Amino acid sequence: MVDYASVEAVLSHVDKTLDKAQERLFTLLRIPSISTQSQHAADCRRAAEWLRDDLKSCAMIAEVRDVRWAKPGNPMVVAHSTNHRDGKPHVLFYGHYDVQPTDPEHEWKTAPFDPQMAEDASGRKVIIARGASDDKGQVMTFLEACRAWKEVHGELPVKVSVLLEGEEESGGENLLPFLKENAEELKADVALICDTTMADRRTPAITTSLRGTVAEEVILSAATHDLHSGMYGNAAANPIALLCQALATLRDRDGRVTLPGFYEGVTVPDDATRAQWRRLFPSDEIFLEGTGLSIAAGEKGFSAVEQTWCRPSCEINGISGGYEDEGFKTVLPATARAKVSFRLVPGQNPDRIQEAFRQHIRQALPKDVKAEFISHGRSEGFAVAKSSQFLPATLKALSEEWSNEAVTVGSGGSIPVAGEVREALSMDALMVGFAQADDRIHSPNERYGLDSFHKGIRSWVRILAALSEK
Ligand SMILES: [Zn+2]
Repeated sequence: MVDYASVEAVLSHVDKTLDKAQERLFTLLRIPSISTQSQHAADCRRAAEWLRDDLKSCAMIAEVRDVRWAKPGNPMVVAHSTNHRDGKPHVLFYGHYDVQPTDPEHEWKTAPFDPQMAEDASGRKVIIARGASDDKGQVMTFLEACRAWKEVHGELPVKVSVLLEGEEESGGENLLPFLKENAEELKADVALICDTTMADRRTPAITTSLRGTVAEEVILSAATHDLHSGMYGNAAANPIALLCQALATLRDRDGRVTLPGFYEGVTVPDDATRAQWRRLFPSDEIFLEGTGLSIAAGEKGFSAVEQTWCRPSCEINGISGGYEDEGFKTVLPATARAKVSFRLVPGQNPDRIQEAFRQHIRQALPKDVKAEFISHGRSEGFAVAKSSQFLPATLKALSEEWSNEAVTVGSGGSIPVAGEVREALSMDALMVGFAQADDRIHSPNERYGLDSFHKGIRSWVRILAALSEK
């Protein structure tokens, strides 16, 4: 049992040493660890080595480990605490040290790898740099919390392992094989992933569901070559028209996907969760703010936030064919193509949905028109079990730090690591992050609130203490 006074001592140490923590973050931010550009491979390794040394200074044994399954192969950083209370849960922290490219460069107000403290329009202090929010700032919230525990009490309240990846922004293909090969070493009681946002400026959040995907490209081929529409119009099949008809019937007038069995396995969140989300986004207009739109376009009976966080979707991402250049050409095209993606919620089967989609297209075609399909990936949705024993303690610790009730939220996107941790290590992952939706991650002038950084560190101090009581 960690008593209240010992947590308070760590928290006040965090407050007193914030300048030093910020300096360490700035040092990491100065390393241009862009994983998708091979000319930065040495920088990625330098970031990994810097983190290894930083972890060592937090009383951990830490190593840079090479990966060999896929290119470009930026190393992993693995660390384990040496001084921690015995008989407490074991947590595995995950973050990534690689960052996105910086283009368009001219839109940056300050150099992307020269971190600066600035004030936003509301007077809030923000750290501006590539990686400030995604994910170096977030990674350092956890490391600094460990450092503070060690400096005040000489030990961590729970056993901690750390895994930092260097290819999250460039495919992350080495992660799953790495987890599998090192499963015995990395297996813990729960994974903590810090790469997500808060619900809003004041409301801390744990992301408990993620959507998976089925991404398909379809190419229809009709005539052997483009035809003159005066000579063959009406008589020859038009693949663009056929494709449009087939795509238009993927959803009905109520926004529901028409594929047979599509909603099999889909569940609706409980009333308390739906009520929480309604409080965060009282109207569809608020959810869609900043997009120029105001009306939820998906399934009737669900709000915009529900359509994104807990309902599966079907979207046409691209469509092309025929003559698209200047002027006009009365052509009857030989081919047409489209890219279509589904976002899946936990419970849906990606293989079955892929097959149902292909069947839907094939059925819409006359015998002399062929469809070819290219898969661009498929993955299942992910959900943290509401019964996870670590969820209530983590929510409580977050609520205490932010003096505001922490909520569980969904994410419309995918964070593959959560599913991969479950697949390779059979354990749950809690996604706790302190970023804000307007941090401009992946964009010029990326930023991280100093409050996110400071209270993020304090949040982890409390979470580690709370988990030690499990
Ligand atoms: Zn990230």
